[in-house]
Amino acid sequence: MIFRSIKKYIVFSITPFCFLQIFSACQKNDTNIKLAEWSSVTSIDVETINSDLEQGKPTIDVGIYFPGNLDPDFGKVTLDQVMSSFLSAKEIYSPTLVQINLLWVKTGNIDPRFLSIQANKIPQVPQTEYANMYKHMRRNPSVLTQKAYEAFMSIIEPAPDNHRTIYLVILQDVFFPFFDVSEGRNWMIKTVRTGGLSFPTYSYCNTIPDNLRGIITLTNLSRPDRLRKTIAHEIGHKAINVSHEFGDLDPQHEIYEGGGLMIYGNGEGIPSGKKGRWHLERLKLSPFIYYLDKNGIKNWNADYNEGGHYYDPIYGNYVVNFKGSVSIDEDW
Ligand SMILES: [Zn+2]
Repeated sequence: MIFRSIKKYIVFSITPFCFLQIFSACQKNDTNIKLAEWSSVTSIDVETINSDLEQGKPTIDVGIYFPGNLDPDFGKVTLDQVMSSFLSAKEIYSPTLVQINLLWVKTGNIDPRFLSIQANKIPQVPQTEYANMYKHMRRNPSVLTQKAYEAFMSIIEPAPDNHRTIYLVILQDVFFPFFDVSEGRNWMIKTVRTGGLSFPTYSYCNTIPDNLRGIITLTNLSRPDRLRKTIAHEIGHKAINVSHEFGDLDPQHEIYEGGGLMIYGNGEGIPSGKKGRWHLERLKLSPFIYYLDKNGIKNWNADYNEGGHYYDPIYGNYVVNFKGSVSIDEDW
């Protein structure tokens, strides 16, 4: 059984897609990146938190990295808040039967340079009405900044299941630059201070190294609504692999409305069917999900075929085709 999982890992690692990633990773001088030293937080009783898990049910593994050298004035995320938000996420996913397994909670000092990062390089091509957001992102995927890449490489401990594991990484600031229409036919770059960021494959497609594709950063859980929903919502970006969308609302950067887990507001629903934009169906197909058999072997869902863009073939018909839009004057 061990052989089988190793073989699977090797096959996975030598696809042309991964070879390209190894090549590009080499260009970035990985040898200079020092891995942080982590140790388990003994005050967290992982076994009790996982005591409700049932063998054979769809399961997602989550590990938590909580740096020990956050600045004294940073108070937006405490360990108690992380654990509270994690327990809420378990609750929010329970109607779907997907359960969340806590692997560990670790602490240690990270390079202070990495406490504040810019997530991705400044985008180059604005989205217009000719292709919807997901198609645009596939053509123009987000790319990690070098600093974000180095930060994550120094934080995530190498493991065979890196590409199947969700990592919650607490940092102080993660800035996300994006295009916004200013006036006429002009766009400007804005940058948003994120409270949680999920680095989803619908946005990064095949630019994010596989071992880092499970990363979620957490930088603000201080408001009650953030506390309750942030971890569940960010896991949704990964595992449902959609942006902010719900029912008739096509994805955009910031949608405030009641209803689903995947838009801002109080909603926590993960709806099914065409009306639900196939969220539940997409969740069940996620490569981050496995089924534990009675021998303790994790049987993983199939991996993405094309790096995990929104229309990746693993989703079959569980996709929505919608028109692109742009908020500039039609007579530009
Ligand atoms: Zn979001």
